[in-house]
Amino acid sequence: MVVARGKIVVIGGGPAGYVAAIVAAQHQHEVVLVEKGALGGTCLNVGCIPTKTMAKTAALYTTAQRLNEFGISVGTPAIEWSKVQQRKESIIKSLRQGVTELLKSNGVKVVQGEATLVSPTTVQVKHPGGEINEINANKIIIATGSVAARVPGWAVDEKNILSSTGILGLEKLPASLIIIGGGVIGMEFASIFQSLGTRVTVIEVLPRLLNGMDASLVTLLQKDMQRQGIKFFLETRVASIESRDNEVTVFCQQGTQQHVLKAEKVLVAAGRVACTDGLGLEKIGIAMEGKNIKVNSRMETNIPGIYAAGDVIGGYQLAHVAFAEGEVAARNACGENCEIDYRGVPMCVYTYPELAQVGVSQDEAEKENAAISIGEFPLMANGKALIEGEKLGLVKVIQEKTYGEILRISILGSHATELIAEATLAIHNELTIEELISTIHAHPTIAETLREAALVAAGRPIHIT
Ligand code: FAD
Repeated sequence: MVVARGKIVVIGGGPAGYVAAIVAAQHQHEVVLVEKGALGGTCLNVGCIPTKTMAKTAALYTTAQRLNEFGISVGTPAIEWSKVQQRKESIIKSLRQGVTELLKSNGVKVVQGEATLVSPTTVQVKHPGGEINEINANKIIIATGSVAARVPGWAVDEKNILSSTGILGLEKLPASLIIIGGGVIGMEFASIFQSLGTRVTVIEVLPRLLNGMDASLVTLLQKDMQRQGIKFFLETRVASIESRDNEVTVFCQQGTQQHVLKAEKVLVAAGRVACTDGLGLEKIGIAMEGKNIKVNSRMETNIPGIYAAGDVIGGYQLAHVAFAEGEVAARNACGENCEIDYRGVPMCVYTYPELAQVGVSQDEAEKENAAISIGEFPLMANGKALIEGEKLGLVKVIQEKTYGEILRISILGSHATELIAEATLAIHNELTIEELISTIHAHPTIAETLREAALVAAGRPIHIT
């Protein structure tokens, strides 16, 4: 007979929480997971999965419009929006069912309700029917995630002025869309809706898009998105938004110039904030950094026995990082001693074309090393990219020249978000440029461009002059 080793309560059933619950249960602990919404959290229900499902439709629609290039004649393709929505919902349902089954088969008890901490060992749960009860725990893992940031004065009504959740549920495709925020979420929606036929305008307060992503590749991406028809207003501050009937007006300021922009819908994609309000954290004295819960590298808060993981601690706000942090929190809560390892976190942007990168920035690489070299290889010179009709893009590899360690790989182009896995393995394991070069890559593949860019960085280009 398996004897449970102590009770662990996990608050939140998103990537951080459900992984923490499964790992803790696998360590023979009694685990209760409290979720106030839907299992799978933001990622599965209103984040990664629905957006990438729509991005797939958008990419196929774009390809369908150029099938002639491949020698295929078909009628004019058309979007059936209700089917796009149905497909998205059915993928979410099937994955949510998968998470439910995984929790069940690992013996995790799932409780539906909103959790509040009333002491370092007691969680109060308010159930959907209003009834309230308390659960005592030896350890608690907080994984309550994040929500879209609300900007005072911008009334998100989910009718005309939308959040990233509201836009996913639109009943019909808008003719025009203004997106406030040129970060990852804003740019992904810009790409999806422009490809589907909506006229898209992006407003960004900073002088550049996708802050934190490789500047030169972002410039190439922006140029291609402009070619596709997207309009960008950089260094532009939104003053106010007015919504009337079927039109929204955005008043904004760019330097000395004032712009009045109109569209059928507006998406506010101005960042996300940790979901910590109403959790009772101040009452039990949990240390915070602004809205985020402060943790150490073992995912421990300042209160012994209470851990936190995922978007609620700020930082990367990525699902794959939340998975990793949830696992570390659970293993430590179960008595192990492990630390999170953030070496080589891949960052992906699912635009068309895709952008992905891993490793330190070029600025950091230049600052921290005596000498670096950069190798670039365009997708245009790669056979598979031409076969796929996806020749726009560039792979960039940075090495430091003393030991040849690879410091950074950035990829713009088709399948960048898949190709980054090889780069991540290289960076995480501190591989050298020669180790990448001496690895035989299958041909014809787009993955060959990583090796080719490494050859350029090493000063021995083969398939490019
Ligand atoms: P969440 O997924 O937010 O889960 C937290 C859960 O806690 C929720 O289910 C919530 O209902 C529950 N909860 C909150 N408070 C309580 C309470 N008091 N009691 C009980 N339950 C509670 N990341 C990627 O890596 N790749 C992507 O492609 C990607 N795309 C995205 C697209 C969009 C539009 C958005 C919004 C986000 C995207 N993200 C993506 C980010 C990703 O969704 C998050 O990083 C990830 O979901 C964080 O996981 P989490 O478990 O920390 O929190």
